[in-house]
Amino acid sequence: LVEAHGVHKSFGDLHVLKGIDLNVAPGEVVVILGPSGSGKSTFLRCINNLESIDRGAVLVAGEQMGYRVHDGRLIKLSPDAAARQRRNIGMVFQQFNLYPHMTVLQNIIEAPIGIHGVPRAEATAYAHELLRRVGLTQKADAYPRQLSGGQQQRVAIARALAIRPQLMLFDEPTSALDPELVGEVLATMRDLARQGLTMIVVTHEIGFAKEAADRVIFMDGGHIVEQGPPGEILVNPQHPRTQAFLARFI
Ligand code: ATP
Ligand code: MG
Repeated sequence: LVEAHGVHKSFGDLHVLKGIDLNVAPGEVVVILGPSGSGKSTFLRCINNLESIDRGAVLVAGEQMGYRVHDGRLIKLSPDAAARQRRNIGMVFQQFNLYPHMTVLQNIIEAPIGIHGVPRAEATAYAHELLRRVGLTQKADAYPRQLSGGQQQRVAIARALAIRPQLMLFDEPTSALDPELVGEVLATMRDLARQGLTMIVVTHEIGFAKEAADRVIFMDGGHIVEQGPPGEILVNPQHPRTQAFLARFI
């Protein structure tokens, strides 16, 4: 579903991604680990074209992000067209970024109605189903400020799911939460993983990686240093930098 080929990205003189290759199969759950500054967030942003890449290519569902094919040639998309390409990708950030003046329900149905043209009744019915899936049936009419951080993040997940994405990207979705609220968000994400959603998750939650990931990727210095099933990477890492990184969690 996702293919990255030799992705390079620099910010000025800072070479952040140094040739990332990655294939993610439909239904696969990939967890990306790595030290601060290794390029994890940048890579996620390159996948959905929030950041343009300098070299290489990213394909999602066979379409090259940021480009369209015309007469067998690649044409760069306008920002609007690039944004349209992003419509089937859900993203959840560390900061939940809910609209504060909208209720939970309004937050969830905004994109399906406004961007995807889903009829209001249908979007609303699906929003209630999603609220059930994230365990917040009672909160449809609450405002974000009336919710705990964990509840807000689960609303943010429901909102991302409301567009029926074929791919979900998570960038440290639990890092801004109080420790006692982390579990409920991870439980929601584990459910999604079990239901066959394709997910790429940047997280420091090793327990989540162990239980939910099909594959764990360790990034350092703009490279994928090592990758494999969680039972190998997390238990018996081969690369010294992976070993040093994981040692911090034991
Ligand atoms: P963390 O674990 O701290 O979130 P990360 O692995 O997600 O780290 P990135 O956010 O991808 O790291 O950043 C990689 C490097 O790129 C960092 O040195 C960062 O300062 C730099 N960087 C990221 N975004 C920009 C930007 N828009 N402009 C300039 N430099 C940037
Ligand atoms: Mg980051």
